[in-house]
Amino acid sequence: MLKRGVILEPNKIVIKEYSLDRDPKNDESLLKILYCGICGSDVHVFKGKHPFVEFPVSTGHEVIVIIEKSDIFKKGQYVAIRPSIWDNECYYCKHGMPHICENLKVRGFQEEGLLAEKVIIPNEAIFPINPKNDEVEAFTLTEPLSTAVHAAKLSCLAGKRVAVVGLGTIGILTAAVAKVYGAKEVIGFDVNSWKVQKAKEFNFVSDALSPQETNAYKDFDVVFEAVGIQSSIDTAFNLVRKHGTIIVIGVFAGPGTVPLHLIQDREFIIRGALMYTDDDFSESINLISQKRINTQLLISKIFDGIDQVPDAFHYASNEKNSFKTLIKL
Ligand SMILES: [Zn+2]
Repeated sequence: MLKRGVILEPNKIVIKEYSLDRDPKNDESLLKILYCGICGSDVHVFKGKHPFVEFPVSTGHEVIVIIEKSDIFKKGQYVAIRPSIWDNECYYCKHGMPHICENLKVRGFQEEGLLAEKVIIPNEAIFPINPKNDEVEAFTLTEPLSTAVHAAKLSCLAGKRVAVVGLGTIGILTAAVAKVYGAKEVIGFDVNSWKVQKAKEFNFVSDALSPQETNAYKDFDVVFEAVGIQSSIDTAFNLVRKHGTIIVIGVFAGPGTVPLHLIQDREFIIRGALMYTDDDFSESINLISQKRINTQLLISKIFDGIDQVPDAFHYASNEKNSFKTLIKL
């Protein structure tokens, strides 16, 4: 029997046995998972705070994998998996925006997850990668980096002053992408002084500081909100310049408050950013393989073996001074 991680109810994750009782069809491949990352939104689900899932949840969506059986990929080829599932039929899919598909489902949330020993996946969601031996883990960040790439591409950043509120994995990667895309200055804000320190140490930002120190910097052209709570959106409004743009990447648990009088009076532009397209996913793989963004720096802890999944989830949801937690399968 194979094993997978399943969140039964808030704060309870177990290992469940399962079997794959069929061969891959000719447009699918059989894959063996090597590494699975735990993401902020997995932790949201684990804590019972994710707005768009129903328990039990077969979890996991950030993986690096090798091909076991496929008509088009070589056995042993390393690949990344795009976890989003699109209907390829709706208005958005037909207009180049499949990431906001009317029938969007994401493996690990509304569909069976990838924190599993083996899975069968459609070839259209499989992206080959070519890591050197020592950098396989770095590609586990392909999926979160794709989210950062997508958000960063929503506004022209070249020559601009950019702020990122929230230096978790997505926020710090968004800062890193903004630098690569030619932002004049990228300033990160986080209440956690460890994350502020690491962002500077990793050189993913021009400077980083606590949101209490927003007076040190203001009038940003583009502000990314990467937390998903009221206080961080408030900080974003304090940082943005007139006619500037706020891009919301953080997943809010419900409605929040925005200063509509200022949006009108100061001509602010507010927009959301959800996941990524295939182009964003490929771009993310390129940024990692060309070493333009060193994602290896963000791997804080690796748990060895699927039986460690409960420990890994408790660690990821309790340890504040940490970026990415991985499980080696
Ligand atoms: Zn669609």
